[in-house]
Amino acid sequence: MASAPEKYDLVVVGGGKAGKSLAMLRAKMGDKVFMVERDKIGGTCINVACIPTKTLVSSARRLVEVRTAASYGVDLPGADLASARVDLQALRARKESVVGGMVEAHKKMFAAPGLDFVLGTAKFVGPKTVEATLADGSVRVVEGEKVLINTGTTPAIPPIEGLGDVAYWTSEDALRLTEIPDRLVILGGGVIGVEMASMMAAFGANVTLIEGGEHILAREDADVAEEMAANLAAQGVTVRTGERAMRVSSDGEGVVVHTTAGEVAGTRLLVALGRTPVTKGLGLEAAGVELTERGFVKVDSRLETTAPGVYAAGDVAGTPQFTHASWNDFRVLRDLFAGKEASTEGRLIPWAVFATPELGRVGMSESEARAAGRDIRVAKVAAAAVPRAKTHGHVEGFYKVVVDAETEEILGAAIVAESASEVIAAVQTAMLGGLPWPKLRDAVIAHPTMAEGLNIVLDSLG
Ligand SMILES: Cc1cc2nc3c(=O)[nH]c(=O)nc-3n(C[C@H](O)[C@H](O)[C@H](O)COP(=O)(O)OP(=O)(O)OC[C@H]3O[C@@H](n4cnc5c(N)ncnc54)[C@H](O)[C@@H]3O)c2cc1C
Repeated sequence: MASAPEKYDLVVVGGGKAGKSLAMLRAKMGDKVFMVERDKIGGTCINVACIPTKTLVSSARRLVEVRTAASYGVDLPGADLASARVDLQALRARKESVVGGMVEAHKKMFAAPGLDFVLGTAKFVGPKTVEATLADGSVRVVEGEKVLINTGTTPAIPPIEGLGDVAYWTSEDALRLTEIPDRLVILGGGVIGVEMASMMAAFGANVTLIEGGEHILAREDADVAEEMAANLAAQGVTVRTGERAMRVSSDGEGVVVHTTAGEVAGTRLLVALGRTPVTKGLGLEAAGVELTERGFVKVDSRLETTAPGVYAAGDVAGTPQFTHASWNDFRVLRDLFAGKEASTEGRLIPWAVFATPELGRVGMSESEARAAGRDIRVAKVAAAAVPRAKTHGHVEGFYKVVVDAETEEILGAAIVAESASEVIAAVQTAMLGGLPWPKLRDAVIAHPTMAEGLNIVLDSLG
């Protein structure tokens, strides 16, 4: 007879942002916690997503700064700065050292008393009961008073004819940095595709970005997406929109993408067509955990699944696919487990696209506000109107804020500019505080900063 499951207060399946945060906190609070992680100590973000990409984006920006140094009055006698290029090995080493440092730090944190962290693959074998197959082949069966599913997402590979017969990259392969491709074709103009295009173009790849929809960054207003596309084009990226990939073939040297509008050949193909929730093989049926129509784990606004005592958080639970959103899921669970009221309803989740320049977004877009029947006013000024942008020498982009014409509520903002990912937090804070837009217009913001652009854009409303 199989031995009885080991009992824990909390079992965490997948050590992503929400899972590892909850595991560490509950262990510190005295709970007996078991966490099983398949292969990425610290989760997707630090290993193969946010952290490596943004580390590389920093290198890409540094490279552009060096190349353009002469226009800033910087000279290095004897050096041809304009033709500076990356040292692939050093680039990879820097990325690996940033990621490796974070992984090491997590290993130390996971060694805390009360937290039983194991590397292995988990699946449910019964209600609140999980079987973990460890790297050495041994198996542990654990039962949690509470269980959290935090298995994340993996790159989606849609059924495009011929894709299975050619070598292609996902974002994870691109981040391994085995080469800077001569001609890189990217399928998908979402956040990942756009960030990769901007970065790889700076590194010297000749990039073509193919997007099936009318414009890149499908969620954004057309003017925002067009500005981002124009900036990519200025960096040498060929952006093809309204064009679907129908078939992929090999031409000996690389790949050819056959689209609804023609053909694009490249030495490498990067598939960036969304992410799939990791639920396959998890034995969710055995746990009584149901999925939504789109394949995410079904949760209520307290992140509880259809099985009482079993929770899900982060990407796999259909939370907007950002690390900070998963971290907020953790905060909801932290409070609920502490007996407080908490829910995911009505939270304001910002996001950023780390292309050059960046896009910072929060709240409703103009089109969403109009679709919701709001009576709105839209403030918009060019980033070139912001003194700090001139000093930076980066005047591309614009600031756009959507407000309610009657109540003066700030409904949302889109900022395309240098440091937009930082400036957007000021708009978010104003929204959280219920600040009417004239208060933000009249706030004394330090000069010259990119945040000062908020005074300037709202001034345009009178
Ligand atoms: C290229 C790229 C760039 C990104 N950049 C950003 C960014 O700049 N900012 C941002 O906010 N978001 C970014 N994201 C999104 C962000 O990475 C995710 O939203 C976030 O990591 C989701 O975290 P999570 O808590 O859902 O779980 P994850 O961090 O995805 O963790 C899930 C874990 O579960 C493990 N697992 C899966 N199945 C099992 C199993 N059966 N047994 C045991 N373990 C299992 C996995 O190995 C994984 O470690 C990016 C994503 C990508 C792909």
